[in-house]
Amino acid sequence: ILQMNDIVKEFAGCTALDHVNFSMKKGETVAIIGPSGSGKSTLLRCINCLERITSGSITLNGDTFAETKNGQRAAYLPDKALKNICAETGMIFQHFNLFPHMTCLENVCYAPVKVKKQSKADAQKRGRQLLDMVGLAHKEDAYPAQLSGGQKQRAAIARGLAMNPEIMLFDEPTSALDPEITGEVLNVMRKLSTAHTTMVIVTHEMGFAKEVADRVIFMDAGRIVEEGTAEEIFQNPKSSRLKEFLSSVL
Ligand code: ATP
Ligand code: MG
Repeated sequence: ILQMNDIVKEFAGCTALDHVNFSMKKGETVAIIGPSGSGKSTLLRCINCLERITSGSITLNGDTFAETKNGQRAAYLPDKALKNICAETGMIFQHFNLFPHMTCLENVCYAPVKVKKQSKADAQKRGRQLLDMVGLAHKEDAYPAQLSGGQKQRAAIARGLAMNPEIMLFDEPTSALDPEITGEVLNVMRKLSTAHTTMVIVTHEMGFAKEVADRVIFMDAGRIVEEGTAEEIFQNPKSSRLKEFLSSVL
């Protein structure tokens, strides 16, 4: 469903992604782990076009939307096509990013109505199902400021799902939460993973990664250093970098 070939992303004076190859199958849950600054967020941001890659190519659901030919950077798709690609991915950030002036239900329904031109009634019906799924049925009329951190994050997940994205991207969704609330957000993600939602999760929750990930990727210094099943990565790390990293976090 997703294929990233030889991706390089440079920022002024810094290579955030250094020839990364990454692909995903439909229904797969992939966890990305690695030290701070290793390029994890940048990888997610390139998938949903928040960042433009310096070179390489990305194919999502059959559409190729950036490539280099003979070292020349090929033109990106027009903005309209880019928007369609953004709509195929749902991104969940560390800090919830809900619209503060809208209720939970309005947050969830906004993009389906605006972007997908769904009728308000259809969007609300689906929105209520999603809020129910994340355990927020009773909060549909609450504004973000009236929600706890965990509730905000669950509302953000419902909002992401409302667009029926091909892939859900999670960038450290629980790292801004108190430990006792982390579990309720992880539960929602566990549910999605069990339902075979295609998802990429950048996380510092090693126990959770071990439990839900079909595949774990370890990044360091802009590269994928090691990847494998949770068992391979956590019980049997091969590279010294991964061994070092695991001993520092576990
Ligand atoms: P963390 O675990 O701290 O979130 P990360 O693995 O997500 O780290 P990235 O945010 O992807 O790391 O950053 C990778 C590298 O790219 C870092 O060296 C960072 O300084 C650099 N970088 C990221 N975004 C930008 C930007 N907008 N401008 C310049 N440099 C950037
Ligand atoms: Mg990050």
